[in-house]
Amino acid sequence: MLDYDVKYLKYKTYMNNYCPFCRNSFNVKEKTRDYVKFIGVYKGEEFELKLSPYLDVFEVESSIPLKKNAILDDFKCPHCKESLKIPDQKCGECGSGVVETIISAFSKLIPFFICLKYGCEWHGLSKSDERKIKLKIPRQEMPEQDQKLRVHNFNEVPYGLTTELALLEAGRCLQCKNPKCVEGCPVNIDIPEFVRLIAEEKISEATLKVKERNLFPAICGRVCPQEAQCESLCILGTRDDPVAIGHLERFIADFERRMGLAKTPTKNQRIDKRIAIVGSGPAGLTVAADLIQLGYSVTVFEALHEPGGVLVYGIPEFRLPKSIVHYELDYLRNLGVRIETNHVIGYLYSIQELLENYNAIFLGVGAGLPRFMNIPGENLCNVFSANEFLTRINLMKAYKFPEYDTPMPHGEKVAVIGAGNVAMDSARSAIRTGAKEVTVIYRRSRKEMPARHEEIRHAEEEGIHFKLLTNPLKFIGDDRNWLKGIECIRMKLGEPDESGRSRPVPIEGSNFIVECDVAVVAIGNAPNPILFNTTPELERNQWGCIAVDPETMETTIPNVFAGGDIVTGAATVISAMGQGRIAAISIHERLSGKTKAPKPKKPEIAPKATTTKKQKKE
Ligand code: FAD
Repeated sequence: MLDYDVKYLKYKTYMNNYCPFCRNSFNVKEKTRDYVKFIGVYKGEEFELKLSPYLDVFEVESSIPLKKNAILDDFKCPHCKESLKIPDQKCGECGSGVVETIISAFSKLIPFFICLKYGCEWHGLSKSDERKIKLKIPRQEMPEQDQKLRVHNFNEVPYGLTTELALLEAGRCLQCKNPKCVEGCPVNIDIPEFVRLIAEEKISEATLKVKERNLFPAICGRVCPQEAQCESLCILGTRDDPVAIGHLERFIADFERRMGLAKTPTKNQRIDKRIAIVGSGPAGLTVAADLIQLGYSVTVFEALHEPGGVLVYGIPEFRLPKSIVHYELDYLRNLGVRIETNHVIGYLYSIQELLENYNAIFLGVGAGLPRFMNIPGENLCNVFSANEFLTRINLMKAYKFPEYDTPMPHGEKVAVIGAGNVAMDSARSAIRTGAKEVTVIYRRSRKEMPARHEEIRHAEEEGIHFKLLTNPLKFIGDDRNWLKGIECIRMKLGEPDESGRSRPVPIEGSNFIVECDVAVVAIGNAPNPILFNTTPELERNQWGCIAVDPETMETTIPNVFAGGDIVTGAATVISAMGQGRIAAISIHERLSGKTKAPKPKKPEIAPKATTTKKQKKE
């Protein structure tokens, strides 16, 4: 009778080992310890050999003295005395001979091999059996706050993986020789390696591995669209659910923070050169972190009264707790980065003035100018841009009512126009600030919704209604100009447009009214014009963003670099960070004399891809 199956293969899994001949168990349970018992054979002499029953725990006890690297002749079954050595199988690590036992997994008996070389830390399944077991482990779901409770608070919705769940999830990774997931990551994190380290319970090492490429894993683990990036290329995903790479990234970062394990990196010797960074979003913060560690003196100028960019004024607390952003900001301050808030560059100092005092400048000012639909009634009372709506809730802390009495619209029926992350954040914030009914209006179908899948699922669970294939035509006001509804038209999908998505086409005569007393327009953002207005020599590309050389992120003004949403248009946190990293390398190369400042010239168009040749080389 089998005790129980080895259901999931992971570090320290307790394994029941059986003799392939007599089917008796090798496991021995004593009061204080468990072990697996064999008869060892060395130079013809038989002795008692005890091994750990836990997978990948290499503890050996032998009744005769054995030197490291001694190659044993055989193991024998202590019950039937049969030899367990198999001639045609070799150790996967050192090539020595192996013995075979069997373990039970998924109610099947599976061969399990142990190397005969004393000290060789190898025992395992055949690759194909290991793969079969891994394929049977289901993706571990992250526990979440109950949907009935969470619509009444702003606490974070997903709780994060427990250590147990994280180890199981990490154990699913197939450790592909040619890992596609890395290609899907805009900053090329060594994903299989960090996942392997988690599976081996080396959490601190896993965090360091991620931080080689991504300084803010707690943030990216929460907000990156992994399903469209690394996870979309995971080989497991072709047959089953992909490895939850984002959840694991979040797990290691949270573990490090909770346990206080974060190490302050050693800084290079001080370099007597000054860098000004304009904007404190993910792009600017990445440049600041990279250059302060190289020894530069770094000052970040931020227009708002709090640093962090969209991470603090846009993304709500229930998705990205402010404490996490504050933790990263404190970390940078401890490294010596100066952060000057309430400094609107362009008004307070021009770029030229900054250049007189700083050796290089990085512009990471984001795309903070909301787009509107330009339809009648858009200036009625209670029609808001998502930027204003979310800024009031997040940065101005309306979510902490009554502690903060920030004026904000409390609608009974709120309509949100758009279907990206910004729209989901607005809709989910509206329901939490007291709206009775929230409706998302989107002109395409569910398949084309650009928001992260998790955000759409959460919004649905929280009772948000979706009016898909619907386009607003005009906002309707009452006699005092307060919003009372939106006239909409139904749409159908036509041929693909230049973005590759099906073009929405109006269905004649299908007009109808959506009743609402607050509307939030979340259809995208454009670059903030302040810097362009005050720095005419800063050239724009065809999309109206700052034009840069995609290899170096340098603008048309020598020694002025740029990256993030101000270069790509509204994109993602990780792409902003990736560009910040390229800019930091370029600034260092320039200031250490490895590259010369080019004569002012018309640069290339903005990079569309998030990974450039330079980044790949790196
Ligand atoms: P920002 O984060 O916009 O930071 C720019 C900073 O520059 C701001 O703090 C601004 O105040 C400051 N600034 C502007 N002008 C000046 C000036 N003249 N002087 C000084 N400072 C200035 N991406 C994801 O990957 N996942 C998500 O889930 C996600 N959700 C989002 C939800 C919302 C509501 C929004 C708005 C965006 C979301 N994004 C998401 C997009 C992501 O946040 C951005 O792509 C990213 O923050 C861009 O980083 P950045 O550093 O370029 O700019």
